[in-house]
Amino acid sequence: MALPCRARRATRNPLVPGKGAVYYNSYEGAGLRPRGDAVMSRRFVLDPFGDKYAHRTSSMLSSEIRDLLAVTARRDIISLAGGLPYTQAMDPGVILGLVEEVLREDHAAALQYGPTDGYAPLKRSLVEVMREEGIPCLPEDIIITNGAQQGLEIISKIFINPGDDIVTEAPSYVGALNSFLSYQPRIHAVPIDGEGMLLDSLEKTLRSLSARGQQVKFIYTVPNFHNPAGVTMSTERRYGLLQLAETYDCLVVEDNPYGLLRFEGEPCPALRSLDENRVIYLGTLSKIFSAGMRIGWVAAPHPILEKLLLAKQSADLCTSSFTQRVAHLYFSRHDWRGQIGQLVEIYRERRNVMLEAMEEYLSGIASWTRPQGGLFLWVTLPEFIRTSDMLASAIDAKVAYVPGRGFFPYEGGENSMRLNFSYPEPELVWEGIKRLSKVIKREVALAKSLGLGPRANGHPGTEE
Ligand code: PMP
Repeated sequence: MALPCRARRATRNPLVPGKGAVYYNSYEGAGLRPRGDAVMSRRFVLDPFGDKYAHRTSSMLSSEIRDLLAVTARRDIISLAGGLPYTQAMDPGVILGLVEEVLREDHAAALQYGPTDGYAPLKRSLVEVMREEGIPCLPEDIIITNGAQQGLEIISKIFINPGDDIVTEAPSYVGALNSFLSYQPRIHAVPIDGEGMLLDSLEKTLRSLSARGQQVKFIYTVPNFHNPAGVTMSTERRYGLLQLAETYDCLVVEDNPYGLLRFEGEPCPALRSLDENRVIYLGTLSKIFSAGMRIGWVAAPHPILEKLLLAKQSADLCTSSFTQRVAHLYFSRHDWRGQIGQLVEIYRERRNVMLEAMEEYLSGIASWTRPQGGLFLWVTLPEFIRTSDMLASAIDAKVAYVPGRGFFPYEGGENSMRLNFSYPEPELVWEGIKRLSKVIKREVALAKSLGLGPRANGHPGTEE
């Protein structure tokens, strides 16, 4: 049963910046002050700069993932939170060799600024990566960014005026929501099921906005192995979504970090491969090579690329010349397909362990998705459980997850959570679910004793 609200997000319901605004820091309030090196801000902070901030800061969400990662850095906690790729699988000798070669080849260029749109040879490698998923693209259709996250940020910057309408999935990637919200749009969050965005609901939204003379600027989707829901948009829905985008003349932002991490089933065509004039495509090397190199890219129609380039230039001048060169050598010399194959094996095993453990410990109490790839499982608990409130007990039991509500722009997801299976070793995945199940069962037992029935609330995105 949800205990009194102990864990609350600092900026979820922000006091609009004003002199003397008091901010409540979530995790210390939850009794989650980390031991060791992690640094947390004080519980109540009287912000003397409250009247100085831009209005847009009032709609910025604090990232629950980031806050959580700080807490779950404790070694004794099994973290099923976060979304970390298993970089331990990478051979450091390979990277060391590439770094040496980069410096030997042209150290001056590697240590220098580079073109804003990216290092041309790497663009050619990225075209190869896209081809692996059947997406035709030319190097000149790409700009390289500091991770896909920067792509999201500059897309927001060039398209969103305050009050503009955009569409996301519900739930949606929290980093995208954060970028969008800081430009103050109205977000229309369309529910998903096991096959992705519900097109009826999308159409209804687009129709009613259009009837009021409003036009959606773009529809944002993570079609493959969705973060956080783990589901994949069916081919039929992909065609349907593009049809609606055409009818209502909106752009589509296709965010595809996980497409190559497929454990089973047949790939569906990328939206970009079906309509390259309407789709802005985001790719990243974070999940197939290194998140630390911070390399992503945007493929888009050229007029949009021009604007994105201006936005990127004012943000950072260029992406690191050094890491782009390392990445280029990696993708031109190394067996990157084989490396992805290894990651897929590792993640498939961990997903299987997580699914088995869920079956063993939470069958009949929770429902969950069965991802065909990627890093995440989405779990839905009985309605009366508030996963944000339950987090303190989970941390107490030495297991962490991400509460669901951070993945919704305004409300929703209160009784759900995202679980990551890519990072912890299989034994820890099993043990983590075991610990989590005890916490959940305690909540359920408490609710029962108060006369509330333990009723698993089927989330549309679940396919147990
Ligand atoms: N989009 C989605 C859906 C993601 O899950 C992530 C990272 N977790 C990103 C974008 C950002 O990735 P990058 O590391 O390339 O910035």
